[in-house]
Parts: sequence; C-alpha cells; structure tokens
Amino acid sequence: MEKKNQIYEGKAKILFETDSSDHLIQYFKDDATAFNAQKKGTINQKGVFNNKISTRIFEYLQAEGIPTHYEKTLSDREMLVKKVEIVPIEVIIRNVAAGSLCRLLNLEEGMKLKVPILDFCYKKDSLNDPLISEYHIRALGWATDEEVEEIKKYVFKINDLMKKFFLDINLDLIDFKVEFGRFKGKIILADEISPDTCRLWEVGTGKKMDKDRFRKDLGNVEEAYQEVLNRVVK
Ligand code: ADP
Ligand code: UDP
Repeated sequence: MEKKNQIYEGKAKILFETDSSDHLIQYFKDDATAFNAQKKGTINQKGVFNNKISTRIFEYLQAEGIPTHYEKTLSDREMLVKKVEIVPIEVIIRNVAAGSLCRLLNLEEGMKLKVPILDFCYKKDSLNDPLISEYHIRALGWATDEEVEEIKKYVFKINDLMKKFFLDINLDLIDFKVEFGRFKGKIILADEISPDTCRLWEVGTGKKMDKDRFRKDLGNVEEAYQEVLNRVVK
C-alpha cells in the first residue's frame, strides 16, 4: 500500500494517508512527553521499540478475539492500520496504585487494588485530559451507551489477557491506557500498546520497565524499552 500525505503529527506518532481510504500508516517517533507535554525529550530508538512491541501485542490480542486496527508492520517504525474515528476517551485500567491515582487519593505507590479500577479521561490536551465518568461520555455524546458497554467489555478482557502475557515474561502489568475507534460501525482497539502507555514492573525486583524511567529521570530508559522488546518477542 502506498504512503501518501501526512494528515496528523502527534506527540509520539505521525499519521499518513494511503491509497486506501480505509487505511492509515502510523509512524512511531522517538519523541517523548510527560506531565501533559510540560516535559519533552527523546528516547533513542523508542519508535522502533514501540512499533515492534505494539505489533506483538496487537497480534496476540487479535488472536484472542479482540478486534484491533492492526493490519501489518511495514518497517521498523511504520504500521499499517485501519483508519478509525477515534472515540475521544483515554480508557485506563489500574491493577496497582501508581501515577495520577496516587496523587488524586494520596495512596502509596504499589498498593495492590482489590479489583481493577476503570478510569475514563477526556482526550483533550488543552484541558490536561481530565478524569470523567460514563455519564459525561453519554451526556456529551462522545459515545453511545452501546459503545460504552462494548468498550468496558473489551478493556477488562484486554486487562486479563495482557496481565497473563506480561506475567509470562516476568513483568507485572500495573496499569495501562488504550484508545478505541469506530470502523464500519464497530468499536475496535486503536492507537498503540507499549511501555509509553503501560506501567510494567519486573517481577521480584519491582524495577520500572516503562516511561516512568523518563518521567522520573531514573536513567537507563532505552535499555528498559529494549529489554521489554527482547522479552515480548522471545
Ligand atoms: P497524541 O495525539 O495524543 O499526541 P500520538 O502522537 O500517539 O498522540 O498520535 C497518534 C494519534 O492518532 C492519536 O491522536 C490517536 O488517537 C490517533 N489514532 C490512533 N490510531 C488511529 C487509527 N487507527 N485511525 C485514526 N486515528 C488513530
Ligand atoms: N497514560 C498514557 N497516556 C496518557 C495518560 C496516561 O498512556 O495521556 C498511561 C500511563 O502510561 C499509565 C496509565 O495510562 O500506564 C495511567 O496513567 P496515570 O493516570 O497514572 O497518569 P500519569 O501519572 O502517567 O500522568
């Protein structure tokens, strides 16, 4: 499929049209941002790591019955995907307290949650992606009741599948963010799943193997992403 015009450049990826109106190419950049883009930097080779890690996870989820936008990996940094209409909601699942949940409720990082927490955030950089409830989504028409139910069903299944997937490679899935979109009237998983969008702690040592190494200046950022890739494709 031929790469055409750039239609969007975001914080981590660039989107290109193709000669098919149903498909886009996602190009993964090395740019990294944190704290709503107040902190900016680059993580050398991140685009390559995240494209390959996302590829493996989308293939796995797809094989387990989750519909995704993933079609094909085209190169080190390029993925062919179905073009969706993004539901403007960040869907977050938390198994262990970390990040903004700890700040919100003054919880200690690492506290195991009795059941997973599902958070919705409105995807709006100028408002710092505020936490919202299902009622905001319905009241403001961002998704229908049926779509919200479908998203909830998928995201808990994705959590179960990914917890198992990562545990097999000695990583604990602490939390993650996913995005969904509409394709030919159906809700499918879109965007990426990578150490940019998941918190992953090494079993036993608790070592952070994700973007928190960049957020918190913990060092060895590239090495952590490389290690996750090595384990994911093992
Ligand atoms: P951001 O927009 O938050 O800076 P990125 O740099 O990751 O994030 O940009 C990728 C953009 O592409 C995101 O806004 C995401 O919602 C959108 N997107 C992801 N998958 C698809 C898809 N299959 N079709 C259309 N848009 C998509
Ligand atoms: N996350 C993400 N993009 C965002 C916000 C969060 O991928 O714009 C991911 C983040 O990497 C973590 C989870 O969602 O795995 C929960 O993030 P949190 O709400 O704790 O926010 P943070 O403290 O990371 O800003």
